[in-house]
Amino acid sequence: MATADVLKPDHAAPRRHFIFTEEHERLRESIGSFVERELAPHAAEFEQSTFDDWVFQRMGELGFLGLSMPERYGGQGGDYFCNIVLSEEMAKANCGGLAMGVAVHTDMVMPPLHSFGSEEQKQRFLVPAIRGEQIACLGITEPDAGSDVAGIKTRAVRDGDEYVINGSKTYITNGHRAHFILLVTKTDPDAGYDGFSLFLVPMDTPGVIREKRLEKLGMHASDTALLAFQDVRVPAENLLGQEGKGFYHIMWELQGERLVSACGCVAGAQRCFDQTLRYAQERSAFGRKIASFQTIRHKFADMATKIEAARQMVYATAWRFAAGEYPVREITMSKLFASRVACEVADECLQIHGGAGYMKEYGIERAWRDMRLFRIGAGTDEIMLEVIGRSYGI
Ligand SMILES: Cc1cc2nc3c(=O)[nH]c(=O)nc-3n(C[C@H](O)[C@H](O)[C@H](O)COP(=O)(O)OP(=O)(O)OC[C@H]3O[C@@H](n4cnc5c(N)ncnc54)[C@H](O)[C@@H]3O)c2cc1C
Repeated sequence: MATADVLKPDHAAPRRHFIFTEEHERLRESIGSFVERELAPHAAEFEQSTFDDWVFQRMGELGFLGLSMPERYGGQGGDYFCNIVLSEEMAKANCGGLAMGVAVHTDMVMPPLHSFGSEEQKQRFLVPAIRGEQIACLGITEPDAGSDVAGIKTRAVRDGDEYVINGSKTYITNGHRAHFILLVTKTDPDAGYDGFSLFLVPMDTPGVIREKRLEKLGMHASDTALLAFQDVRVPAENLLGQEGKGFYHIMWELQGERLVSACGCVAGAQRCFDQTLRYAQERSAFGRKIASFQTIRHKFADMATKIEAARQMVYATAWRFAAGEYPVREITMSKLFASRVACEVADECLQIHGGAGYMKEYGIERAWRDMRLFRIGAGTDEIMLEVIGRSYGI
């Protein structure tokens, strides 16, 4: 073999995973530059007082809220991978609460609204949501039922042409700012999994009470609400999907939510890694750059390997999901693995920063606090392990 033909490692070669096309890469550039120019500069202020609603309006104007929604509803008509691009690029703001608030709107409420909604519901809720004129939230969790979704108590009782809803929901992201909620209720408490129904409830309906703004460890840019529903009357046409099939509808929704959370975890971990690598190449101790200590180099090697493994798992699973498969086991594994990797990476990056990692100025402590949610939200680690374990019939 001639010297010129000798293969050299291609570490610096541009990488594009096979799930993405040139078009996705152009979308990535345009969302990435929007996030860096228009959102990231506000991250500190969003952390203080939660992010402003103009974010939704601006993203609606730019077409970023309905990337995979059909054009006839004002969407961009793209595929599922466009949502992955959005979730990855939002990580560039280093403002987990902002990314989460937007993801609840685009990837948790919109997909079931689009899949199960009537034409009238799509015109009334989906179209303004894609434009960023109406903000959505999702109400599953209750003070007495989180992991155990089947244990929820919020009741919807039919009364003529209406349903009357009573109950409460907690930890609801966007709960204070939202114009409508996709609400999980029980319509028949004796029917087991066939007794659940979903409703679209405008938040200005009499009896909807935004009881409390909840304070949190991280995700400070997002608003989190405790909500009460007291004799809330909604017309029967606000039922989303089939009466009695709400549990199955919401389990389907959770798959998309978990996958997009996993993408956000990988992107967030990569962002922390990149920032920390730059830091370690600049910071000196004992007359050397700290990156040159073998222990530090090995930490980076370890993190990079885990991030890459998580990324490949998430992409391969997303590819199957986008192709119409329903790979619940692998989605669950992706969510479990990616969120654990994200927490480990954020912790290791904080350590590599030393005291600076503990200071607000560097943003690493924020990532560390924000990432911690992913092992709880959209299903805890323990529930993910249960789902995976049971999928083997044990
Ligand atoms: C910041 C934030 C934002 C959120 N946003 C939303 C939102 O927008 N909408 C929404 O509906 N919900 C939201 N959630 C709720 C979130 O999905 C729940 O907190 C989560 O599902 C866990 O439920 P829980 O808090 O009731 O915990 P619990 O169910 O009370 O669990 C407590 C502990 O017990 C463990 N456990 C429970 N059951 C089992 C079991 N069978 N085996 C082993 N261990 C078990 C859990 O893993 C956990 O460690 C949000 C939560 C947070 C913190």
